[in-house]
Amino acid sequence: MYPVSLDVRGRRCLVVGGGGVALRKIQGLVEEGARVTVVAPMVVEPVALMSENGEIELERRTYQGEAAGKWALIIAATDDREVNRRVFDEAEENGIWCNVADDPEICSFHLPARVRRGAFQIALSSSGNAPFAVARLRRLLERRFGPEWAEWLDASARFRTSVRALDLSPSQQSEVYDDFFAATVDGERLTARVPTEAEERGWLRTKVDHRSISAHPAPTAAGGCREARSGIGFVALVGGGPGCPGLLTVRGRRRLAEADAVVYDRLAAGALPVDLAAHVELHPVGKVAGNHPTPQSEINALLVRLAREGKRVVRLKGGDPYVFGRGGEEAEVLAEEGIPFEVVPGVTSGVAALAWAGIPATHRRESVRLTLLTAHEAIKGDGPQVRWDLLAQDEHATLVGYMGVTALPTVVERLLEAGMAPDTLAAMVQQGTTAAQRTVVSTLSGLTAAIAEAGLEPPALFAIGPTIGHVKKLDWFSSLPLAGKRLVTTATNSQMAFVLEDHGAEMVVLPMPVTPAARVVMSALPLSGCVVRSRAEVDWLDDEMNNPGWTPTSIAWCLGPEAADRARQRGWVHVVELEDGIDCDDLVSRIADGA
Ligand code: SAH
Repeated sequence: MYPVSLDVRGRRCLVVGGGGVALRKIQGLVEEGARVTVVAPMVVEPVALMSENGEIELERRTYQGEAAGKWALIIAATDDREVNRRVFDEAEENGIWCNVADDPEICSFHLPARVRRGAFQIALSSSGNAPFAVARLRRLLERRFGPEWAEWLDASARFRTSVRALDLSPSQQSEVYDDFFAATVDGERLTARVPTEAEERGWLRTKVDHRSISAHPAPTAAGGCREARSGIGFVALVGGGPGCPGLLTVRGRRRLAEADAVVYDRLAAGALPVDLAAHVELHPVGKVAGNHPTPQSEINALLVRLAREGKRVVRLKGGDPYVFGRGGEEAEVLAEEGIPFEVVPGVTSGVAALAWAGIPATHRRESVRLTLLTAHEAIKGDGPQVRWDLLAQDEHATLVGYMGVTALPTVVERLLEAGMAPDTLAAMVQQGTTAAQRTVVSTLSGLTAAIAEAGLEPPALFAIGPTIGHVKKLDWFSSLPLAGKRLVTTATNSQMAFVLEDHGAEMVVLPMPVTPAARVVMSALPLSGCVVRSRAEVDWLDDEMNNPGWTPTSIAWCLGPEAADRARQRGWVHVVELEDGIDCDDLVSRIADGA
């Protein structure tokens, strides 16, 4: 079967039959501009209406063998198999393409199932063998492809016209098309967006000198106004959320997709979109295990330098940029330097880590005030004054302490001195919302010993207050079978990745080829292993085995012998072979068992 898209505009097409099935075919042809003649003794109401409106020619009679020369194609959709057969035979004699509805045996072409977004169409075909399967697949894709794909395709067509107007070599053309695609399509989620004119000019500018593109329209206020006021770039201070990749905001994600350079904190590394284009500069700053943190002045200078180079910069910070993240200082420097900037708030860990641990930040009648405290700063002798006396006496409140591991004993001491009840509930959450999340629940007087015993480490925060009492009932996350598992798979398995994620796993879904951003994400936390299905996936991943995310205990769950054999050949140590067709529940429980 050879798929084609036919230009039926103005061409004469015959539909034999006037029932519901015929109607859909007639509508399909009319929408594409065909001149349709319908032959049928009786027709359903909408077909009659189309005829009255002059959209089709209707001949109310039985078929009399008119499948002769003048038709571009014929569709037989009567409920009489004999008639359909005659139409087909006569079409064949006359060399005219003919489709018989619901009778794949006698068709010279099949009509694919379609997902349509404007000029963009996805056609699905089973070569006539299993229409039920493609019908269901079509429904699935209908849900996955949003309406934005129509606009995206229009934008792609416009971009193509701009590119073709320039004198670029085929390889340069291909590079700018890559830029366009990488920045506008989220391959993992199958979403797309229309780029701004400024972005388009940016991609083209890298390939041609300024003069040849100055003919392009100036950026409008609606699109691209952020960029290039007299060559100065733009900085978005983006909150990356608490660690779980899904907790980055939609706007933050968009800014990342548009970025030329990303300056990210170690704590925010897991929030980088894995499909960030390979040409985006990545600048890690902040504390990296074993190294000193980059001084704030250097980070500020880096932001200023990148922006002055005309780049669109994302400063990606953990949680929310303005909650204990020194985002305020960075924004001030940008303001002083006259660099346009914006702040994209993020989900702050003080709220999110508690939610993942089963602790509501507030609760009606129980806790009516939420205090976010930088515990580390609060205990410094020369630091801002904290009214421990007021905090200690407020029973109907939640006190959340960021940077709280080393400061905890002092905080507890101060609160007890100020009269807080020793049996006030208290908890600490380490790396909340990630696969490394751990929670310890205790009382104010018991918490220090409890976290020492459990060995909790930064980044972690503590909460003190009555809402911790809900933890047993509301701990929805740690009871998920795959909570604590962090797994790599490839984009070809993204449906499976969703399922594993829904069961609590943190999934790193690698695009192929693997991007630098994906490597950073992989390394952000230890990996429990990978789930692979094909030999090619094993080969791709083998190139990534030096990534620090892998541990000596990481396991390769291989779906089928092909991947498992290849993994063993490659010398992978922990290889678990599972059936290729394994059902979801079994897969989840095998991974949960760690074997
Ligand atoms: N701007 C960030 C906080 C930066 S200060 C925010 O809004 O979340 C860094 C501190 O945040 C860490 O020391 C720790 O106390 C806390 N933190 C960050 N991510 C965390 C997480 N996933 N779980 C628990 N605490 C976290």
